[in-house]
Amino acid sequence: LIQLYAPLNFLGVLYREIRQSLTDIERMFGLMRTEREVADAPNASELAAGPMSLSFDAVGFAYDPRRPVLTDVSLTVPPGHTLAVVGHSGGGKSTLARLVFRFYDVSSGAIRINGTDIRQISQNSLRRAIGIVPQDTVLFNDSIYYNILYGRPDASHEEVIAAAQAAQLHDFISRLPDGYETKVGERGLKLSGGEKQRVAIARTLLKNPSILVFDEATSALDSRTEQAIQGQLEAAARGRTALIIAHRLSTVMNADEIVVLEQGRVIERGSHAALLSADGAYAAMWRLQLQEREED
Ligand code: ADP
Ligand code: MG
Repeated sequence: LIQLYAPLNFLGVLYREIRQSLTDIERMFGLMRTEREVADAPNASELAAGPMSLSFDAVGFAYDPRRPVLTDVSLTVPPGHTLAVVGHSGGGKSTLARLVFRFYDVSSGAIRINGTDIRQISQNSLRRAIGIVPQDTVLFNDSIYYNILYGRPDASHEEVIAAAQAAQLHDFISRLPDGYETKVGERGLKLSGGEKQRVAIARTLLKNPSILVFDEATSALDSRTEQAIQGQLEAAARGRTALIIAHRLSTVMNADEIVVLEQGRVIERGSHAALLSADGAYAAMWRLQLQEREED
């Protein structure tokens, strides 16, 4: 039986590997498909550099028309402010981030930057203005250096290193035999979820965009690394327009406004202090997380 088991187990591993790369391909196709669905308007305008406001105006969205994912979501992030979005998983938080970057178009309502519907803005200038640290990062099968540099291809060597340092990645990279030239992905180093997430953070810090979107940007990090990076993220968000989607509430306490999204609807909004004294869903989530931290 043992003789039979070993090869079967090997096949199982192989199968999982193949399935994993299939999902990556699917994901790539998904991205390519949405690229085609979303087209530039004939007279699309360019976003001028500088401070930007971001607003959701009664946004509705569904991946499948039979099942709404967002319903009547209105949010405003004035220039230089930080808006945090919290809520249970499946509530539609990552969908908000995808819509801002225009991977999909809204089904109803509008998303605006400086008052202009993003469907009237050229995709190039929209994507230049926005930096996203997504919940799951897909890296290019290329060097770590290239993967960070992608954030801003004309950045200097020193700027790439500084971004890696800010993302708590430089020491790790320096210990690799090939350093920044280490290839990641299929034929190179397999990075852990936390390491990939830090590459995405470095890339976005290097990009230095007007609008920052963090989608659970530190969820795969251990709490010590998270704390070390948290200060860098707050510094990056300072003076910039930021949409921060967070799982750990301790990371959003200082946001100008916090919105609770539940099943695609905004059910609460306000400052940390106001939401605690309102004693609703946010306050309940806060108590739960305090309790979990004590148990740790
Ligand atoms: P959150 O980030 O709050 O966990 P998401 O925005 O990822 O929530 O998902 C909201 C809902 O949309 C979930 O029910 C999820 O299953 C669904 N969903 C997410 N992505 C897709 C997709 N590409 N196609 C269809 N449904 C999706
Ligand atoms: Mg999500």
